[in-house]
Amino acid sequence: MRSWPTPFIPQLPGRAPQVRVRDTTSGELRPAASGPTVTLYVCGITPYDATHIGHAATYVTFDLLGRILRDGGHSVRYVQNITDIDDPLLERAERDGVAWDELATREVALFREDMTALAVIPPDEYLGAVESIPTFVGPIEQLVREGMAYAVPAPDAVDGAGGAVARDVYFDVTRDPAFGGVSNLDEAQMLELFAERGGDPDRPGKRHRLDPLLWRAHREGEPHWDGASLGPGRPGWHIECACIALDHLGVPIDIQGGGTDLIFPHHEASAAHARAVSHSETFARRYVHQAMVGLDGEKMSKSKGNLVLVSALRAEGVDPAVIRLALLAHHHSTEWVWTDDVLEEATSRLATWRRALASDGGPAAEQTVEEIRSHLADDLDSPRALEAVDRWAAQALTRGGEHPEAPRLIARAVDALLGVRV
Ligand code: ZN
Repeated sequence: MRSWPTPFIPQLPGRAPQVRVRDTTSGELRPAASGPTVTLYVCGITPYDATHIGHAATYVTFDLLGRILRDGGHSVRYVQNITDIDDPLLERAERDGVAWDELATREVALFREDMTALAVIPPDEYLGAVESIPTFVGPIEQLVREGMAYAVPAPDAVDGAGGAVARDVYFDVTRDPAFGGVSNLDEAQMLELFAERGGDPDRPGKRHRLDPLLWRAHREGEPHWDGASLGPGRPGWHIECACIALDHLGVPIDIQGGGTDLIFPHHEASAAHARAVSHSETFARRYVHQAMVGLDGEKMSKSKGNLVLVSALRAEGVDPAVIRLALLAHHHSTEWVWTDDVLEEATSRLATWRRALASDGGPAAEQTVEEIRSHLADDLDSPRALEAVDRWAAQALTRGGEHPEAPRLIARAVDALLGVRV
């Protein structure tokens, strides 16, 4: 799948220190990189309501991570998927009377525009689930063969060849002793989230209520693809990310990223599938999650319909740099609420920065650049990085300064490290 254009990233003198991130699984601050190349997998959108502020917060957070790692001398290999076939997409298409694939194409196009406007560096590989389906079938067959997965008759599905009853395929969580080790949840918590987030704990014939779907047999009226020995159907969500990450990054990957709503079951199940397929102990060395963004006292979500869309803000004439600054004003691991004040503060901050950076000179910039770097390297502390720029700008505007090169260096640092073009 085509991604979007790469923004120009200025080079800066010096380099960032070692980057540490809060790892969800251990709860500890850990080095983000294990070597010169950092592999990053961030779960992409299901394209039916792109791109709300919660999505934007996730992709800007991992963009920030990529930027500070690159500034520290690492190369970053970044893969992202698009869940362009899934139940919610089909439901939305049916509700709106549009073809599911047209809806997906339209929303992915909008997402690309939003990411371009927000100066998000594109992934090296941007892969749709649909285009990748042939690469999921073999691994699911392998899991069945090796006893990690099993078939459940699906009498409501379209019959297989010769009138055989079609079958759905499930992953057997009881065969994976490490299951639960990503989220560290107990079984009751897992069951609650599983039911809440698209799982089917009560499906008759499953061995364990938490077993996630790997392959759904063809139902009348639903799109379906060749599944070889699995029969025609479509993949479950978690196996898609597992296979794409295995094929394009290998294991273990350095960082698995996404919103906190993906910790369970999605990241737990993806990791279990990937470990089982690759016979490895670890799928991701680190799990980093973006906290939810609320609106009017509730989590912003497609199912609740309380969305602020980046495209709508852009259409109202909001500068994308303001949207980016509004996101960066909040730490990625803290939940926050989108309000008009958030937008106003970001608008005023950008105006101040622009005034300061238009000066002929200013106070020395080097220390401010180092402060931005060290705050970002400290678990992506963007609010404090912005405050460092605020302090420089306030000094430049009130006391001026003797350094004619300073505004240019600050502008380059703000562009390269924060992705904000002033
Ligand atoms: Zn995923």
